Amino acid sequence: MIHPILAYGDPILKLKASNISIDETDDLGPLIKDLWETMYNANGVGIAAPQIGISKAIFVADFSFFKEEENFKEEELINMQQVFINPKIISETGNDFNYPEGCLSIPNISENVIRKEKLKINFLDKNLEPQQMICSGIIARVIQHEFDHLKGILFTDKLSYKKRKSLKQELNLISSGDIEVKYKMSFFKK
Ligand code: ZN
Repeated sequence: MIHPILAYGDPILKLKASNISIDETDDLGPLIKDLWETMYNANGVGIAAPQIGISKAIFVADFSFFKEEENFKEEELINMQQVFINPKIISETGNDFNYPEGCLSIPNISENVIRKEKLKINFLDKNLEPQQMICSGIIARVIQHEFDHLKGILFTDKLSYKKRKSLKQELNLISSGDIEVKYKMSFFKK
């Protein structure tokens, strides 16, 4: 089922998502399916459960979109389409790396965000098997962005004060629903 994607301004996006407990793991199939469907419908490369209003620690990402990128390393991947359940970042190392990010919850805005180049992350995959990924560049970046959603952090929170100030009007238009988007969104009514 395709869900409306919560727009910037919805308080659910600012919550820390709760870990999925062992007795919930049986019912994850439909949620995972919905995340994929909602993400592909919106032409996204990743989506986290809070973006469809479910404050649980799970996100999905499809890395195949970046295959042509210079810094794409296929050998870093377990799957091209990966489900991350209860992820835990072990380390973020390497150089600071600036790259433009967008977000399905913040349509039509793209800004450079500084992140560490290398990432080590533990998580459960869709079969609830523990996995560890050591990755870098664009792959790490997608994961770092989605992981932030589980902490209630949006990429705009990582911008300079000056940059955020300059985006304020655009962000207000998004939260009030005064935007053109090709997929269904949910706008928080104050
Ligand atoms: Zn996002």
